[in-house]
Parts: sequence; C-alpha cells; structure tokens
Amino acid sequence: MQRTKITELLNTTELNRKVCAKGWVRTRRGNKHVAFIALNDGSTIHNIQIVVDIAKFGEEFLKPITTGAAICVNGLLVESQGQGQTTEIQAEEIEIYGTADPATYPLQKKGHSLEFLREIAYLRPRTNTFGAILRIRHHLAYAIHTYFDKQGFFYFHTPLITASDAEGAGSMFQVTTLDMANPPKTEEGKIDYSQDFFGRSTNLTVSGQLEGELGAMALGGIYTFGPTFRAENSNTPRHLAEFWMIEPEVAFFDINDNMNLAEDFLKFVISYALEKCKDDIEFLNNMYDNELTERLNFVLNNQFVRLTYTEGVDILEKSGKKFEFPVYWGADLQSEHERYLVEEHFKCPVILTDYPKEIKSFYMKQNEDGKTVRGMDVLFPKIGEIIGGSEREADYQKLLNRVNELQMSLDSLWWYMDTRKFGTAPHAGFGLGFERLVLFITGMTNIRDVIPFPRTPKNAEF
Ligand code: ATP
Ligand code: MN
Repeated sequence: MQRTKITELLNTTELNRKVCAKGWVRTRRGNKHVAFIALNDGSTIHNIQIVVDIAKFGEEFLKPITTGAAICVNGLLVESQGQGQTTEIQAEEIEIYGTADPATYPLQKKGHSLEFLREIAYLRPRTNTFGAILRIRHHLAYAIHTYFDKQGFFYFHTPLITASDAEGAGSMFQVTTLDMANPPKTEEGKIDYSQDFFGRSTNLTVSGQLEGELGAMALGGIYTFGPTFRAENSNTPRHLAEFWMIEPEVAFFDINDNMNLAEDFLKFVISYALEKCKDDIEFLNNMYDNELTERLNFVLNNQFVRLTYTEGVDILEKSGKKFEFPVYWGADLQSEHERYLVEEHFKCPVILTDYPKEIKSFYMKQNEDGKTVRGMDVLFPKIGEIIGGSEREADYQKLLNRVNELQMSLDSLWWYMDTRKFGTAPHAGFGLGFERLVLFITGMTNIRDVIPFPRTPKNAEF
C-alpha cells in the first residue's frame, strides 16, 4: 500500500479509509487491551496516534515497538476519540522495520538538555525540537531563493576553494594535497606551493563577496548562498567554523538601496516563516521562548532605526551602562553594545552605518571625511549583528590607495581590482549569516543548535 505522510493524514477530511503510515515510535502507552503508539515521520511536529487492539496482535509482537523503533502501519483512518488530535489510525497490520533497544537508545527518555543533544548530534534530528528547527531551516532557505528570484536576482555560485583572502582576516582553513609531514621546499626553505594541487596556496573561502561582485558587474543583481569557513578560534554562541552565508550584490545600488533591500528581505523571510512554519514556531515558542512569536511580529511591523556608528557610539557613551568591553569612537562594537542599542535603547532592529575605516574591510566605499566608510550592519534583538554589508569603493585609485595603506598583496587581488578598471559602477551588497537568521526565527540561543552538524573548535566528529 502507498504510504501517506503523517502531516497529510492529520489534516485530511477524507476519513474511514485504509491508509499506510510509516515512521518512528515516539511513545507507546496503554493498558491490557489496547496500546496507543504515537508515530512521527518528520513531516510535521505532530504525531499520529495508532490504536492497537492487543488481542489482535499479541503482547509478544508489540514488545519491541518501543521509543525509536521504525514501523509501518496499515489501518483505518478515523476521527480521533482522544483530545488534541484530529485523526488516528486503527491498526490492521504492523510491520517492524527496525527496533531501538530501550537499554541503549540515547533518546529513550524525553526532556534531554540541548547540551546533551549536541553530544549526540547524529540522533538529535529525531527530537521534536530539532525536527522543528530543521523544518524551519528548510523553509527559510526556500524563502531566500524565492525572494531573490522574485526580485530578479540570479543565484551565482562562487568557489569554495580560493586563492584570495577576502577580508584580509587570515583566519582561513588551508586546502592542500601536499604531504604535511614532508612538504616540498623552495631554495629559501619555505613550503613550495607551486607543487601543490592548484600550483599555489589555497584556502576555503571566508566569503563569496569578491567573486559575487564580478557576477553583479555582469548580471546586475546576484546572490550567493553557500557554505563559508572561518578558522577563527571564537567559541561563542554566535560563531561556527562552517556556516552558510547569503550574499546579494547589486550593480547601481548605493548604501540606501542596500539598507532598503536588507530590511525588505529580512521582513519577507520572517513573514514567510510565520506563515509556513506556524506549528513549529508555536512549538518552540511554548517550549523555549515565550516571546518568540511576539518578537518576530514586532520586527515585521516596525521600521528599522537607521543611524551612524558615530551616533551609536555617542548613545553608548552616554548610557551610563557598564560594558565588559570599553566603548569609544574607533572601537569595534561588541555584541553587548549592539544588543544595548537594539534591546534597551531603541527597542527595535537597528542599522548602523558609516563605520571607522580602520575596523572595516578595504573594499568599502570611502566617505568624504576621510575617516569613515559606507558600511552597514543590521543589528537584531538577541543576536546582535545579523547582516554586515556596504556600498563598495568603485573608484580604482581610491581602492588602490587603501590596498596599499593596508599593505595588501595585489598578487591574489589583481582580478578584483580590474573590475574598477573595466566598466566600474556604483554597487553594494551584504552578507547574512544563515544560522544567525535561523537562531532569530527559532528563538534558540546557541548557533550549534540550528545547523544539523555544527563545526566548532575541537568538534567535527559527526
Ligand atoms: P562578527 O563580528 O559577528 O564576528 P563579522 O563582522 O566577522 O561577524 P562578516 O564578515 O560581516 O562577519 O560576515 C557577514 C555575516 O556572516 C555576519 O553579519 C554574520 O551574520 C555572519 N557570520 C560571520 N561570522 C560568522 C560565524 N563565524 N558563524 C556564523 N555566522 C557568521
Ligand atoms: Mn560584519
């Protein structure tokens, strides 16, 4: 018999027909005469109840149907007698695909801590919490593609292996096929990368932006959506070593267009999630964060406050608040500062612009004052920075001056510089950390809990 997904079985009005459901047992309870199996197949947060007449199957047969076991049930779909569910299945045939020994199955009991679940990340998608998070993650990815497609942006695939260091950050993972124990050496005794796979030293990308700009300069508007790697040893609840980033890049956009795009885009994906992931968001709201739905609606219904970094620092300095990291003009704002502005001062998402050039990347458009650049960070409640972007420096000479000031090497950047020689134009873009968005929309507080297999320092087992 053809299997029907549980989400459909729970939402159908066609009752009293034979159906087939397959899934994993969440719980089995009951009495001498009847057993109730809560079955989940991942298609929804809700379980379907299987009603089993014990006399019909025998107690011995039902014994191995414990939490975690995979089964196939054929039976009659009927209106549920019990509360809190619409339909249930009266079992006629049950096949056990696989058992899960209660003595060793780690998810035998309910209510494990998120910390414990991180240690068994290979099983945690089977919990209600991670089922909800992962379904939301999927819908958000889909929403992002939908948004940009509707706006006429093209999905542009930038390389994961690169010879350039986009941010000049130096915190990159090296990619090599050289024998690490015995690498070939040059006459000066350095590792001879000309003998490496690509004939040069290469790394995993920290951002697709530089290549994304090449796309924007041809297709007008593009976005990337792919994995990004940062080897910074920052063990925080907001950083992963491998995360997914969305980077739109748009020709003929200035920083205001860029801010409008960021705000419109974020509001679109939030409203999409509220509509498509109702049950899952409701579940997380009830289980973890009572203000989640309210917070999402608040962001949706309010204009983001826009102000300059200088104005922001002024507010922070006058706040009288004791911060762990000192705040002064020129300081790179920490998450505590960002969250003060958003959560305590404005009580609203904030877009900060015009940062000191020293704390921002070389490619940002330089302002007339010689001190600041046209960067913009979008700051969200509970998260801090969710988006970082800028109008780009389109002037060849100004960009070159900055590259020289920073003593950056043109060896791996000459092709980027060329865009400012051949048909340069104003353009802008930003990067959204996908997991920070998923954090915000699920109300989770640790970024390790919104990606199936988190990569963090000393953690890459599964
Ligand atoms: P932060 O200051 O929070 O470390 P950043 O300024 O280094 O971030 P950008 O280089 O501007 O980050 O990257 C763009 C976006 O990517 C950020 O706004 C954030 O949403 C996300 N992001 C950056 N680093 C990480 C990371 N290690 N893990 C997850 N997301 C990240
Ligand atoms: Mn940033």
